[in-house]
Amino acid sequence: MQILEIREKSVAMGAPMRNAVIDFSKMTVSAVAVVTDVMRGGRPVIGYGFNSNGRYSQGEIIRARLAPRVLELTPQQQQNAAGDNLDPARLRAAMLRNEKPGGHGERAVAVAAVEIAIWDAAAKIEGLPLWRLLGGAAAENRVFVYAAGGYYDEEKGIPGLIEEVRGYLAEGYDWVKIKIGGAPLAEDIKRIEAVLELLGGEGGRLAVDANGRFDLETALEYAAALAPYNLRWFEEPGDPLDYALNAEIARAYPNAIATGENLFSLQDATNLIRHGGLRRDLDYLQFDPALAYGVTETIAITRMMEEHGWSPRRFIPHGGNLLALALTGALKLGASESYPGVFQPFGGFADDTPIEDGYVRLPDAPGIGFEKKAALYEVLKGVAA
Ligand code: MG
Repeated sequence: MQILEIREKSVAMGAPMRNAVIDFSKMTVSAVAVVTDVMRGGRPVIGYGFNSNGRYSQGEIIRARLAPRVLELTPQQQQNAAGDNLDPARLRAAMLRNEKPGGHGERAVAVAAVEIAIWDAAAKIEGLPLWRLLGGAAAENRVFVYAAGGYYDEEKGIPGLIEEVRGYLAEGYDWVKIKIGGAPLAEDIKRIEAVLELLGGEGGRLAVDANGRFDLETALEYAAALAPYNLRWFEEPGDPLDYALNAEIARAYPNAIATGENLFSLQDATNLIRHGGLRRDLDYLQFDPALAYGVTETIAITRMMEEHGWSPRRFIPHGGNLLALALTGALKLGASESYPGVFQPFGGFADDTPIEDGYVRLPDAPGIGFEKKAALYEVLKGVAA
């Protein structure tokens, strides 16, 4: 059993919107197909993967470094000990050969796209959905998802924002998240109050996201202004790697902080928990499996959280895609992000699983379930062709 080919294609995922820091109109992702020599139903098993939104495609790293390191292995070196499936952990270790520790950056994103495709293939070879393969009988086949949106758009203004959130509620979502930090504080407060009014004043149903924009002084100013609203969380107030700043904000802000989507490794996640001042009974962690080395690393991060006394329920992954959803069900994480209608076709879930009371069902197909989302499968199929 072996992987015969690893193909990568850069695909546009541009969306005409901006948060406090970046504009998404030129965003791309790497779509990956891992072609195996295993036959199922008369056709070769092909695993698919892609990196998450926000970090662009990674073709050069995949083609020049990662793919050759996997393809030069013998079939025995690619398999598990029983010889009945690929061994994703071994293949991941091979991809990281001759890579120095630390400085994870783009490499973590590139490895994630390929590693996810390898897991998709392994679950298909096993004939199981990935969430079932990883989580066994304890896995949850229904996951809470919240709608992340509320990007800045001068044309649509507050009336457009309200219309957008109303649409999410009509779709079946119960909590929403909107951007802050891309407008002056007074304007952001108006946006928050308008959305809260629609949510019946329930702060627990609204989160806000500053995308790492603020310096300490501004973050503290926002923290003081946000505190009375008892929001679900205040996300990425300052630079994601500034743990001391994060700890300072956590000391001043009485409600939940959420962060972690821009930390791409177990070591970075561990440092956040050690030094970020986060409160294990209050705050949330948002590591993104499809940016942070993929499935194996995410499992390790979840174990590390538990070793530090954190419940996996405090982990609500960034990403809004079928992979994050599968891991949320498998590892019994708290919830998963969703970006209704944007980052298409990579964002979103299976076509036949509507949002119901804030929850979405996990697809029952072997693998991660990309085949259950027609527009996404169309693109992925094109990578393998
Ligand atoms: Mg965010």
